[in-house]
Amino acid sequence: MDAGSEQRKGYRQMHSADVVIVGLGIMGTAAAAALARRGHRVLGLEQYPPFHTRGSSHGKTRIIREAYFESPEYVPLVQRAYVLWEELAERTGRTLLRVTGGISLGRPESPFITGARESALRHGLAHELLDAAEARKRFPALRVPDDFVALLEGRAGILFAEECWRAFIDDAVAHGARLHFGVRVTGFALEGSGVAIETSEGAIRAERLVVTAGPWTPEVLASLGLPLTVRRVLVVHVEPRRRELFELGQLPIFLLDVPEGEYYGFPWLPEQGVKFGRHDDGEACTAETARREVRDDEIAHMLAVLGRYLPEAAGSVLMPVTCLYTMTPDGHFVLDRHPEWPHVAFAGGFSGHGFKFAPVIGEALADLAIEGRSELPIGFLGAGRFGTRHQ
Ligand SMILES: Cc1cc2nc3c(=O)[nH]c(=O)nc-3n(C[C@H](O)[C@H](O)[C@H](O)COP(=O)(O)OP(=O)(O)OC[C@H]3O[C@@H](n4cnc5c(N)ncnc54)[C@H](O)[C@@H]3O)c2cc1C
Repeated sequence: MDAGSEQRKGYRQMHSADVVIVGLGIMGTAAAAALARRGHRVLGLEQYPPFHTRGSSHGKTRIIREAYFESPEYVPLVQRAYVLWEELAERTGRTLLRVTGGISLGRPESPFITGARESALRHGLAHELLDAAEARKRFPALRVPDDFVALLEGRAGILFAEECWRAFIDDAVAHGARLHFGVRVTGFALEGSGVAIETSEGAIRAERLVVTAGPWTPEVLASLGLPLTVRRVLVVHVEPRRRELFELGQLPIFLLDVPEGEYYGFPWLPEQGVKFGRHDDGEACTAETARREVRDDEIAHMLAVLGRYLPEAAGSVLMPVTCLYTMTPDGHFVLDRHPEWPHVAFAGGFSGHGFKFAPVIGEALADLAIEGRSELPIGFLGAGRFGTRHQ
């Protein structure tokens, strides 16, 4: 038997677990921490090094918001996430969240406005609706068209994404989880009352399997035929011409629903400048074929839009960043157990807005993997809505 297979044989003997997690992006590390804190033997497997930039969780910042325009059903989940982010920050001694407030801009009929308002009214969230003149007066950085309105919410803010990712890894390891980077899962199948998992380092056996493979989910869960598509999206970091207009306290996180598309951004931060990203559009691709380089015309387009609505922001470009969204047809996540293999739970299709929910997704995955069900209000995220069944 060659060294490789000897090692692989050793890998199996060395490693069995209550739960194996495939993919240690923000969702996999959140699940690892939640399961390890409940005392389960967790083995997390990740094909790339920590904090790699090939998936969906990299970068320094993410937006968290409560008046959730996508659907009021997310509000209880994001409120739970606020609590869990705070607890994680306390346990790990890291600063994970900074409340800045949030402003959504669009025409009165824009879903960014009507959806956020419906969530705010349904859940009694503090918010204000401003006309264009009032919004311009309050936030001089913004050039708000006359026919636009603004919805202001108080609890929106910034998640320090890489710190959050580090905190989950620390928390999981502190509670006994083993996290292996550089190990690719190549297959899995039911084996007796558990799951046999094939990896680039050998086979492993586990009682339960959690799949959080991000933009690789279409491949890893190919047998489920989930209607997922991957999109390459773009972010630019710029040094504004007048920094004082964009500093914390002067400008909240912002969402723009404008004729040029859907955009979002952050106030100025050290080393980050002003971050500005596009939420809609994006090149269809797979996780393996995604184009990683950024063309000048793409940057020029982003600067042109930024310059139209935040004129003093469009200064020098610090860095462009590409990242991947995994889209579902309805833009809602898919979080469920495998229809035929109840030992397998999965979460994916976060459609560009999942990060803020990571701790509660971790909790839900732990419930689904161990108990087979969850008290959390996640019914609307079930795979059954796509008629998913094992093929
Ligand atoms: C530019 C951008 C901006 C965003 N902004 C926001 C925001 O402001 N607020 C917000 O809430 N959300 C935001 N999101 C969405 C959020 O970042 C994602 O929903 C979240 O990061 C998804 O995490 P994940 O763990 O599912 O995916 P990933 O981070 O991609 O993790 C999946 C992991 O699985 C690993 N993997 C896959 N297949 C295998 C295998 N076979 N073996 C081993 N490992 C494997 C991959 O290497 C990867 O590390 C944004 C996303 C992007 C791209």
